[in-house]
Order: sequence, then structure tokens, then C-alpha cells
Amino acid sequence: MDYTAVTHTTTDRRLGRLPSGRDVSVTVHRYVGGPGPTVYIQAAQHGIELNGPAALRRLHDRLTDAAIAGTVLVIPVVNQLAFDHRSYMTPGEYDVMNPNLNRVWPGDDSGSLQEQFAARLWELVRDADAAVDLHTGTADMLEHVRCQAGDPAAERLAEAFGTSYRLIDEAEEAGDDGSGGTFRAAAAAAGIPVITAELSNSRRIAQDAVAAGVDGIQNLLRERAVLPADPEPRAEQTVLRNDSGPVTASESGLFECRPDIAVGDAVNAGERLGAVYEPSSFEQQQVVSATERGVIFSLARESVVVKGERLAGIATPR
Ligand SMILES: [Zn+2]
Repeated sequence: MDYTAVTHTTTDRRLGRLPSGRDVSVTVHRYVGGPGPTVYIQAAQHGIELNGPAALRRLHDRLTDAAIAGTVLVIPVVNQLAFDHRSYMTPGEYDVMNPNLNRVWPGDDSGSLQEQFAARLWELVRDADAAVDLHTGTADMLEHVRCQAGDPAAERLAEAFGTSYRLIDEAEEAGDDGSGGTFRAAAAAAGIPVITAELSNSRRIAQDAVAAGVDGIQNLLRERAVLPADPEPRAEQTVLRNDSGPVTASESGLFECRPDIAVGDAVNAGERLGAVYEPSSFEQQQVVSATERGVIFSLARESVVVKGERLAGIATPR
């Protein structure tokens, strides 16, 4: 490999037009070295997930002085509308059809606003040799890195990234709630090795999550030989399979989670996780139980739940 000093440029990429006629664009950083693979990295599809952009600022400091082989494309805030509104999803005023950017990939240039955004971004993604989508969960999600089943190259990226847990999505179209259209599913379907990192803590910068993000990406770039050093060995990852879909609310109401359980806990099939109550009549609507034996990787802590909403995610050891 021919490692040469990075040339860094930024460009504004126009994604679409708002009703007022104003354009929406994102900043794209390009770090170019000698010939080599292209790695695409984006953060903040969800506007409250801030440790991704913070990690990418630190990556910038590490890459601008580096010699690399290949190109690293970085979009620190891919969903500007949700970010500026400090909301998880894009406000419905902008796109009533598709408020969740992470359900519209690979996009559609004649579709809804966010489908158009994704299509414009996809022009950068489709030629990449690897892709990373940085998210952050709540305190009630295990910090993990996620990839599709049956993709050894993606698993190597996940291993290099190096969170304590690696979650393997078994279903081809699996998304965060079992639906399709996620960036990860679309990139995997296009044959691009891809990982989603779920760093800890939404809404605020958490230095340990930022460090996990930047160190993870740096090691992933070594694994792809974009950076010259060998990847550092990481602590053994616990590999879990996400193969059964989430535990969901069968009725709307207030979810009272068992106080003694938390993410990372092992549970048995049928074990009681809590109950959903009707707050006005006090009636118990649903006993919530684990669908299978495994490890809880996410748990709803916002107690108002609507029918069909995810209450817990349970993954099984591989
Ligand atoms: Zn997210």
C-alpha cells in the first residue's frame, strides 16, 4: 500500500429543497491519501444522537496529520433537520410520509423529502468499500456494534470497532424495530460491508462513548488497511444474535418494568419483565414476558407505550 499524507477538503452537498425554496445540504469531509479503499462514515441520522458527531471531530484531528491509503468520507450531521430540532426523528412537517431517515434507504430521487435526501447520499455510499453508521442509544440500550448475518467482512469491521457486544441481525431486512429501510440493511443488500455502532447516551456528550467511537473507527480503518498500523487487539466481544424480534406492547398504557432488571441481564424464556396497566382504570392489560432465553439489549424506560411499541429487545448468544 502507498500511504501518503492526507489531503483534506470539505464540500456542501445539496440534498433537497424545503417548501420555502431553501436548500438543505450537508457538509462532506474528504480525507484522501494514496490509492486504496473508500470508507464512508455518517452520524446523526437521529437528531439527538450526538456522540457520533463528537467522535468524528476527534477523528478529524487524527486523520488530518496522518498518512493513509484510500479515502475516508465523513458526514458528521447527516440529518440536519432533526439535529436542529433536537428531535430523534425528523419533524413530521418536513416529511409526513417518512419521519425516520433510517427507514428510507437507499432512497428515491422522486420520493418524499427524506427519500430524496437518502438518494443523494447514496450516490456517495454505493461506491464505498465499507460503511459505518454512528448512532447512540439511551442509557437503556447496551453499547454495541451491529451487522447483518452472513457477512464475514462486516463482522471483521465490527470486531475491529470493538464494543463489548456485537449484535448480529439474522433477518435480511431487519431494522431497529424489525422493519426494512435501514442504512445497514440497504448497504448490506448492495454488498457493502457495513456496521451500525450504537454508542451509549443520547442527548449529551459522554466522553467514554466519544472515545469508544473514535478509537473504534481508527481501529476499523487499520483493519481495512487505510491506516498503516495493524489493528489493535480488542477485548473479546460477546456475540449475540438478534433473531426473534422485539418484545412488544399488545395493549397501550403504562409500562412498569420490573425494577430489578437492566440491559445486559440474562433472562429465561417466559420470565416476567413487567406489566402494562391502564392508568385510569388501574386494570392490568398485559403481563410482559421474555419471548426467549437470552440477554436484554434494550429496555423501554419511557413508560407510556402504545400497542405494537417495542418494550424490550432480547438477543441470544451465538
Ligand atoms: Zn439512531
